[in-house]
Amino acid sequence: MEKRLRLAPSPTGLLHIGTARTALFNWLYAKKTNGKFLIRIEDTDFLRSKSEYTKNILEGLKWLGLEWDEEPVQQSNRISIHKNHIKKLLEIGAAYRCFTSEEEINQLREEQKEKGLPPKHDNRHRNLSKQEIEEFISQGRTSVIRFKIDEKAEINWADQIRGEIKWHGKDLGGDLVLSRRATGYDIGDPLYNLAVVVDDNFMNITHVVRGEDHISNTAKQILIYRALEFKLPIFSHTPLILNSEGKKLSKRDCVTSIDEFREMGYLPEALANYMSFLGWSPKTCENEILSLNEISKIFDLSDINKAGAKFNWEKLNWINAQYIKKMESSKLSEIIKKYWDNLGWKSPSSDWDLKLTTLLKDSMIILKDAIDQSKPFFSLPQIQEEGQELLKNKESKESLKQILSYLRQENIDRLDQDKAKEIINKISKTHSIKKGIVMKALRVAFFGCLSGPDLIQSWELLSENKSDLLRIERCFISP
Ligand code: GLU
Repeated sequence: MEKRLRLAPSPTGLLHIGTARTALFNWLYAKKTNGKFLIRIEDTDFLRSKSEYTKNILEGLKWLGLEWDEEPVQQSNRISIHKNHIKKLLEIGAAYRCFTSEEEINQLREEQKEKGLPPKHDNRHRNLSKQEIEEFISQGRTSVIRFKIDEKAEINWADQIRGEIKWHGKDLGGDLVLSRRATGYDIGDPLYNLAVVVDDNFMNITHVVRGEDHISNTAKQILIYRALEFKLPIFSHTPLILNSEGKKLSKRDCVTSIDEFREMGYLPEALANYMSFLGWSPKTCENEILSLNEISKIFDLSDINKAGAKFNWEKLNWINAQYIKKMESSKLSEIIKKYWDNLGWKSPSSDWDLKLTTLLKDSMIILKDAIDQSKPFFSLPQIQEEGQELLKNKESKESLKQILSYLRQENIDRLDQDKAKEIINKISKTHSIKKGIVMKALRVAFFGCLSGPDLIQSWELLSENKSDLLRIERCFISP
């Protein structure tokens, strides 16, 4: 039988790393089994749902390479169907109308709190007579529809990640609210636990893979499946993503939305690759740089860990750097060029762009590093303290003086790498200054400090945008 999996995001915020990872695990299993990966937008909370969030979620999934196989289902289009199922549950006596007011519920909570008991509805309206219901309605009271939860019910399922899970009806908080705000004999607004069962059944979902925060919902939903005589899917509950302190990753942990990762310059392939290992440990896999297709071949739900997965920036950075290194320079150059254009930085030629990209590529961790790393090629960096120290050295200054006069004498306004090497050797030999000193002095002239990219390649690039002479000259102007 075809395996059908789904992601059911609520469009109440931007695509979050946790949702993206749930999507990824669903997608990987669907691909592995030649099944289908589907989307259902759970947008029935009209106050909090926004179409721009739906757009953001779908775009983010696409960006990560997690394409879906059928037109997404929009839950809000199915409300009348959810209501029909609630009607059915009322008809078969599995649900009932409850008129407990908010004050009454608060009072009950207070009493339970005083006794040190967890909050639980006391099902006080389970057996109202027709007349009592009529009376409440004539008083103008609104109602909720509650699903009867048998205190003695035993609910167990073989979770693909966590093994056997057992729940008891008595631990589910009393009769479950299926819909709320019903006036008169209306059904009101159906809620998540009912809608999710009806829609998963409608979409023929065979495997439900979602976060462990839904475990108690699964127990409740299984009881609804039973009452509606629907076939149960196979359930799997994924571990939470934790921050470095071992707490659930939340909006307070600076970066959590996929957009933010994208803006910082993480590549989609790298982020998806990293996220796969966030809570999943394959039995045999030495290589950690793998495409989603490669991962899907070795992926299995049973290899997902039960324990929470700590978000590890170092590992993400390492993986991203590997992907940048692997990237074709021309493609990378196009991306970097956009940053320069946005900053108004003008480069002399596309060949120069490519050369600078190739020069920086190996030291980049995220795409945005290209900005800081290429900046010294567009504007004159100040000479830092270590640079000024070096220039106090006679030989350093002398070597720069000799290079300057040579460049002027020979009228060299553009040089390639061979010529650059030749000049350094020549000056070193002729004036008996160690090559290392000549090179350090040049580095200070070019970049103002002792670190930076390859000097010879840099010189070629700086000579092309005609700033090498200027950089050397300024070493002779006292600050
Ligand atoms: N809309 C729910 C959520 O975003 C879906 C949970 C589920 O997958 O059933 O948490």
